[in-house]
Amino acid sequence: MLRIEDVSSDYERREVLHSINITLPGPGVYVVLGPNGAGKTTLFRTIAGVLKPYTGAVFFNGVNTYHSNHIRKDIGYLSHFTSLPEEMTVRQALDFYASIEGGNSESAIRKLGLEEFENLKISKLSQGLKKLASVAKIFLRERKLFLLDEPTSNLDPSYSMMIRDMMLSLAKEKMIFYSSHNLYEASNVSDQVILIKEGRLVFFGKREELKTRSYRIGIRSDKDLKPLFLGGYYEKGYYVLTVKDKEETAEIIKKVLESGARIYEVRELDNPLEEVFKGE
Ligand code: ADP
Repeated sequence: MLRIEDVSSDYERREVLHSINITLPGPGVYVVLGPNGAGKTTLFRTIAGVLKPYTGAVFFNGVNTYHSNHIRKDIGYLSHFTSLPEEMTVRQALDFYASIEGGNSESAIRKLGLEEFENLKISKLSQGLKKLASVAKIFLRERKLFLLDEPTSNLDPSYSMMIRDMMLSLAKEKMIFYSSHNLYEASNVSDQVILIKEGRLVFFGKREELKTRSYRIGIRSDKDLKPLFLGGYYEKGYYVLTVKDKEETAEIIKKVLESGARIYEVRELDNPLEEVFKGE
C-alpha cells in the first residue's frame, strides 16, 4: 500500500506540489497525467524518496520512503533523464549497475528482448533501444513499486506497446505508476487515473468517472453507415460521429454489428480529456 500524506514539495522554497493526499491500496497501473510542468516528475521524485517533501510524507507499506534506505530498494524509479553510459555495451552497462545495486543483467536483458543488442555500445543504439536499455536497469532486481516517468515518450509504437504490455503484466502483483502527457495512453493502459494540474491533485479515480466533453469517433466498416446514424459524415474512410462517453460508443458499435456490417476500426478522433487540461 502506498500513502501519500499531505505532501507539499518545493525547489529552493518555491512550492511546486501542494498538499497531495492519495492512498493506493494495492497492485495495478496508475497513470499520472498532467500537462508539462504540472509536477509529475516532482511527485515521482518525492515518492521515490529522492526529494524530501517540504511538508507531509510518503509511506510505502507503512515505511517513510525518504527515511528508509531499505524501502527505497523496493522502488524502481526510471526518471526521464535516465540513460546508460554511452561507451559501454548494453551488457557491460547493466552488469555495472548490477554490481552496484545487485541483481542480474541476464534476466533484465531477456525481459526487455535486448538479447541481440547486448554487445552493442549504447552510443550505437537507436533512441527507442536506448530507452529500452534504460528501462532494463530497473528490472535488474525484484521491486515492489515502479515509478516510470514518461517511459513511452519519443518511442515508436512497437516499443511503446512492448513497455505497455510489460506494465500490464507486472501490474498483477506490483504497483506501477507511470506518467504521461499523452492523454490517449491513459485509456490503453490504465483505468486508474491521477490527474495533476499546477501541482495540485485535481482527480483520482476511474478513467470513466473523469468528466469528459463530447468527442468524435471514427468507424471504419465494410458498409455505408449513413442510413444507420443521422448526423454523421465520412472523412478519410471513417464514418465520424460525436459521442458523450464510452457507453454511447459501445451502443453505436452494437448497432453497427446488429445491422450485419463488420467493423475494422474504431478511433477516438478528439481527445476526450482535452477539456480537463484546458487553461494550460
Ligand atoms: P512535469 O513532470 O509534470 O512536467 P515537473 O515536476 O518537472 O513537472 O515540474 C514542476 C515545476 O517544478 C515546474 O514549474 C518546473 O519548472 C519546476 N522544477 C522542476 N524541477 C526543478 C528544479 N530542479 N529546480 C527548480 N524548479 C524545478
